[in-house]
Amino acid sequence: MNDEQRSPGESIDEPGASSSSWRGRRAARGAPDTAGRARPYRPAAVVARRAIASAAAWAALGALWAGALAHAASRLFAPVELLLPPAIGAVVGGSLALVIRRLRLSRPRPAIAIASAAAVLALALQLVLDFRTLRAEREARFDRGRAVREAAGVATRQELAEYRAAWMEGWTLWRYTRARIGFDDTGAFTGTPPVLGRRGALVMSAFELLLAIAIAAAWAGRAAGEPACAACGAWRERRALGSAAHGVAREVVARLRGGDAAGAAALVRPPDTHEAVMFWLLSCPAGHDGDGGVLRVSEVFWTRRRRLALQRIADLEVDGAAVEPLAAELRAAEEAEE
Ligand SMILES: [Zn+2]
Repeated sequence: MNDEQRSPGESIDEPGASSSSWRGRRAARGAPDTAGRARPYRPAAVVARRAIASAAAWAALGALWAGALAHAASRLFAPVELLLPPAIGAVVGGSLALVIRRLRLSRPRPAIAIASAAAVLALALQLVLDFRTLRAEREARFDRGRAVREAAGVATRQELAEYRAAWMEGWTLWRYTRARIGFDDTGAFTGTPPVLGRRGALVMSAFELLLAIAIAAAWAGRAAGEPACAACGAWRERRALGSAAHGVAREVVARLRGGDAAGAAALVRPPDTHEAVMFWLLSCPAGHDGDGGVLRVSEVFWTRRRRLALQRIADLEVDGAAVEPLAAELRAAEEAEE
């Protein structure tokens, strides 16, 4: 259990290979041509293989649950079937996001790969369970008639066994899978050929698969892309710096990236409507970021449906000198508002 709980961050305190990687990156960040400039956050924390393996194992478990639930739901009410692939994506991605958070898996790529594989696994399991149920129903239908015929002496036991084999012929998982995906459009399993034809059925299947993968991968990738400390692997903690009048988010980001901290701060005005630019500073809870960290710039805006939405514009790695003028200006804007 102790080994399980050891976070990936702690492992880099051990002497040896891992320390060189982040110190090396730190050194690269201090290169003269980019000094003093904010740059987009890039995941740099060392993530233990154990964390990736644990996440994969949890994702597989989650996928089994999602597949079984989807199968059960499709038995309850048929119209829900169209909603099942996105629901599978959400269950797989959402549960994986929680695990990613706990395991400090701050690398989007493995998270996306695991989520995609888990979504495929869930859909495959649902298909297998659907097939088994359908086959059992068909066998039961035959067996109901068999008892009657046997009692009436219409057919011998041997004949009935042959009839049964003929009745179930072709009811293999392989053939069912082909029909379900759309390669086989004879309607052998449903009684009717697919409404949209072979091509339509294939397109629908591909769309459902990609939708489940996209939702799961987006959710897990977003969780893993949250800023983590490059030194210790801990998730950086968010602190609100304040908000400014809208319309300046991209220009603030551009000036910070150009190394113009004072120029970025000069753009800040107190917010005058609900639409605004919001700023947060995310920093290592163990203090590895000093006064800096990751500056998150987001926009609050009205959607076409007249709802307020929050959109992330950038996550910038900043040092104290880059963020302090902006933070001071935001404090001043807040006081002016009061
Ligand atoms: Zn740290």
